[in-house]
Amino acid sequence: MMYITKRMIEIRNLLQKVGQTNTVTLPSIVVIGSQSSGKSSVLEAIVGHEFLPKGSNMITRRPIELTLVNDPDARVDYGEFPDLGLHKVTDFTLIQKTLTELNQSVPESLCVTDDPIRLTIHSPRIPDLSLIDLPGYIQVAAENQPRELKRKISELCDKYIRGPNIILAISAADTDLANSTALQASRRVDPRGERTIGVITKMDLVEPEKGAAILNDRQYPLRLGYVGVISKLPPQRGLFGRETGNLLAGITRNEKSYFGSHPTEFGPEAGVSTGTMNLRKKLMQVLEQTMSSKLHETTESIQRELEETTYQFKVQYNEQPMSAEAYLAASLDDFKHQFHEFATSFGRPQLQSLLKEALDQKVLDQLAARYWNRPVEDLSVALPEPDNIADLPKAEPNSPYWHRQLDTAVSGLTRLGVGRLAATVAASAIQSHVDKLLDKSSFSKHPSARKVISDAAATVLADRSYATSDGIEISLKPYKFDPDIQPNEWDRGREHVAGVLQAELDQCQAALKSLEGAVGGRKKLREVMSFVDKARRGDIIIEGDHPSGAGGFSAALLARGREAVFLRDRADIISLRIQATRSRKCRDLQNRYYCPEIFLDAVATKLAGAAVLFLNVEMLRDFYARFPREVEAKLHEHMAGGGLDRFAREDPKVRRHLDLIQRKELLELVLQKIEELNRIAQSVPGGGPGQ
Ligand code: GDP
Repeated sequence: MMYITKRMIEIRNLLQKVGQTNTVTLPSIVVIGSQSSGKSSVLEAIVGHEFLPKGSNMITRRPIELTLVNDPDARVDYGEFPDLGLHKVTDFTLIQKTLTELNQSVPESLCVTDDPIRLTIHSPRIPDLSLIDLPGYIQVAAENQPRELKRKISELCDKYIRGPNIILAISAADTDLANSTALQASRRVDPRGERTIGVITKMDLVEPEKGAAILNDRQYPLRLGYVGVISKLPPQRGLFGRETGNLLAGITRNEKSYFGSHPTEFGPEAGVSTGTMNLRKKLMQVLEQTMSSKLHETTESIQRELEETTYQFKVQYNEQPMSAEAYLAASLDDFKHQFHEFATSFGRPQLQSLLKEALDQKVLDQLAARYWNRPVEDLSVALPEPDNIADLPKAEPNSPYWHRQLDTAVSGLTRLGVGRLAATVAASAIQSHVDKLLDKSSFSKHPSARKVISDAAATVLADRSYATSDGIEISLKPYKFDPDIQPNEWDRGREHVAGVLQAELDQCQAALKSLEGAVGGRKKLREVMSFVDKARRGDIIIEGDHPSGAGGFSAALLARGREAVFLRDRADIISLRIQATRSRKCRDLQNRYYCPEIFLDAVATKLAGAAVLFLNVEMLRDFYARFPREVEAKLHEHMAGGGLDRFAREDPKVRRHLDLIQRKELLELVLQKIEELNRIAQSVPGGGPGQ
């Protein structure tokens, strides 16, 4: 007995894993009844535990798909909520609490929902059964309940009481059977009473004769018959073992004593069925028979489903295999390949030019601080008349002042922390290259794995950062006192710095242009600038930074005017200095004091060259060697504990591919199981083997 039900429930659980419950529906026992008919009590008696939500205000708002699993090995009874990941809950009050919470999570406006709560109970003392508890029918909606609640409950029940489900229609003995909502609903879908079991509760509340008459009812004949039960323990609970945790034993004893004391009405001769134990047996038999009769049909629909899936696998994927491991391996290989390409193209020359660029800015800072902040005349710049361009720089070559200026600028450059600057520039360039590679790789579709790789790069880089910058500082020491610039270095510096100055000039001019736009045109800006100039020369006196401005200009306008004047002056100086660096005098290294721009540029190039030698070995090569290993290790950690599958499924295309393969494999397994079941059912007379 019960062999087929057990296997079919296993099969259903397998199918649920791939969301295949729509095509293959296995019969369940659907429990319906009006509120307070004793529906919960009957279910609890069958299970042997109190676990259903209680309370006068408590309406069931979601169907509960209750699977009972006869588990001879279970030492204690326990429940599981597979959808919540709640396993082995042995405390039934916790199950009750969870069900109550799940129920209450349905907003009142929705009334009820057909999204079921799945609960599985394991025990050595229960049969294998698949039951669905539905919201109780209400007669009249209470004051605080929405009007449509009644209709919605009824619609929900109608959805479930369709075939091949078996209907367990609960009615109380102390109400007129003609008014039983459960029987009325069942008659609508099962007019010949072929798949309805009638349960009459509260048999203790009516006279035995009346009770027996109900069970013998001919008005609503049911092929599967009626069973009378008393699902409530009498008050002296201690005797009947609620405390001992065996609710069913207590109920059975109570029922036996009641029905046994009325042999005329309920004895063997009376031909009626009573007691929860008998009800349980009936449920098992009926479900087993229904499952057995559905075996063939179910097998066929699984076959069809498998055929369709196999076909889809062929057309969509050309039967190409796919696994999360293979996907990760391919993604990683691809990334490593891209990384290798980057590594071969990014070396010393690239580092050198990046670092030089950063140092160019530092050179400009030194120039701005030590030379350009002075009145232009101080830098011995004559007016840029065409004929005297050649003589442009006029700083007195032997003046200790200019010597000191250049020495301070050079030492400002060498002491600014080139080691740290170089390590930071290199690390951020490498990091941003890695991030760009990631954006182009398939990891871009996997934010958390992408972060793991990006973080791995940051870790390896940070690891070498201090040692590298210290090492660079040490290697730069000789340049701090005597940069020792050679003529060819001077020539290169001369050429390069003109470009740097030109770029700076372009930026100044662009900033001026955008200021023009911001104040509303060139004319307006000129006006403000001329006002600022006058004020600076002392032609006009502005008292403080008056918030409302001065000279008819607002404070904000004046601030822009001052900025524009600064930019204009800066641009003037830079223009002159560009001409100076091109002048004949600046061709000669001896005239370095006239041409600090060239000298500083040459020093910066030297510093960058020395730093890069060190960077290349200490940081870049180290990174190229360690990064791929670090990525492997970190990804390995990340993929542990189900991470690999989650990772692969983040890509919708891969997910669909994996889903289809998984479904196909599962259907193959299910088909194998169900075919085996068919063979056993055919070989054993009467349906299935004994348990
Ligand atoms: P539901 O609303 O249909 O789930 O009904 P319950 O199972 O909550 O039962 C409603 C009330 O009837 C509760 O107070 C139960 O204790 C009581 N009850 C249920 N079954 C029986 C029974 O067989 N005999 C008696 N006397 N009371 C019962």
